[in-house]
Amino acid sequence: MARLNTFPVSVAVKGRRIVIVGGDDEALAKARLAAKTSAEIVVFAEAFEADFSGLDVTLVSRAVEAGDFVNAALAFVADHGPAGARALKLARGAGVPVNEVDVPENCDFFTPAIVDRAPLSIAISSEGDAPVLARLVRAKIEAMFSPRLGEIARLAGAMREKVSALLSDGVARRRYYEALVTAPGIETALAAGQGEAKADALLAQHAGRISDEGVVWLIGAGPGAEDLLTLRAQRLLQEADVIVHDQLVPAAVVEMGRRDADRISVGKAKGHHSFSQAQINTLIVRLASEGKKVARLKSGDPMVFGRAGEEIAALRKAGLAYSIVPGVTSALAAAADTATPVTLRKVSSGFVFATAHGADNTDLAHWASLAQSGLTLGLYMGKSIARQIAGDLIGQGVSRAVPVGIVVNAGRSEKALYAGTIGGLAAGEIDFADGPAIIFIGETVAEGDWAQAETIAVEKFKVA
Ligand code: SAH
Repeated sequence: MARLNTFPVSVAVKGRRIVIVGGDDEALAKARLAAKTSAEIVVFAEAFEADFSGLDVTLVSRAVEAGDFVNAALAFVADHGPAGARALKLARGAGVPVNEVDVPENCDFFTPAIVDRAPLSIAISSEGDAPVLARLVRAKIEAMFSPRLGEIARLAGAMREKVSALLSDGVARRRYYEALVTAPGIETALAAGQGEAKADALLAQHAGRISDEGVVWLIGAGPGAEDLLTLRAQRLLQEADVIVHDQLVPAAVVEMGRRDADRISVGKAKGHHSFSQAQINTLIVRLASEGKKVARLKSGDPMVFGRAGEEIAALRKAGLAYSIVPGVTSALAAAADTATPVTLRKVSSGFVFATAHGADNTDLAHWASLAQSGLTLGLYMGKSIARQIAGDLIGQGVSRAVPVGIVVNAGRSEKALYAGTIGGLAAGEIDFADGPAIIFIGETVAEGDWAQAETIAVEKFKVA
């Protein structure tokens, strides 16, 4: 087995200085890194070519001297000329560990890639072999943890005495800290300056009875691509005990959940109602009542045609905790796919996202007037009745020339586009690709990029 040639340690720098030699971008990068710490950062160079403004560092326009290394914890040399060689010697003479930037053989230490959630830090090092890999690993770790993790860590630290006083049992203390750092709403509480109050309340609960509270997170999975998931969604998927997901959420996204989480598909594909909404409500209430952390994963945004209202009502009625994590709704993913601005100065002062499914004449009359007033319509659940809707809108007075754009599988690699006019859509059936679709109607559609689109009937609109 390969052994490490470096040993990761955290160097104490509080009240000490970090010396940096050099004035170019290399020196600046190290200064930026060092400035994450509370150390005094002093940069020595004959000339400063890089822009150090905005950094809390002291710039000294001369060569570094032996005395400058007094009380230094670390030194970086970003000068590869004679001045650098001299600095290297002086640092070593003063017993200060030194790093000559990008010259591994002249390094007493390496700087790992850092995930900074002060007081918590995570360092990733490749011993200088593969800094790019280290940075990739760092990006993954960054995505795993909340930006407020540091505050949460500090809060946990601040609770230490109280916790020891109230919870004598080690296991109980561990459970408390686990509950605290993963408490739903802890970030919001911290942001509102209520962190300690929340931690106290949780402590009171734990001192009384030791049980983890259940919670339901209604999470928007976005339109289907894994990288359109929010960081928060990804993090909560990693925390969940159970993932309850709709059929429209692709397997790849469901897979991003914790490996040992239970996964329950509640179906809801068109025409395959494997669970009724009432059964889903009952299921999530039951799971959360059992103390489970439930990720209720929905496609797009949970609050948009996601029956979230009914699930929230059921959770409220049962007195259970819940929170909502927004996602990229499919109409906005479709707008992104086709570079269609759903609002545009002087063309469209707003947009209406509506369901085509079950629309009656009043709805149609309403949309027709909105479309005529220039708003962009984005219709969900309308693929199978697209032609009929187009005909009905024309019947309600919408001009046949109004542009229409349809995106099947928005936000996914297998997307398919169709563009034309509402007259064209009303004129004939389209053999759509499989998958869910968004139908855009309005003048802004012509401003989008529909070059890859199949033409709807013969009347493709003129692309702007
Ligand atoms: N909450 C979801 C909508 C669920 S209703 C959201 O915010 O997107 C289901 C409808 O959403 C489908 O009939 C279709 O109109 C639309 N839809 C969902 N995913 C889609 C996708 N990847 N591409 C296009 N439309 C999609």
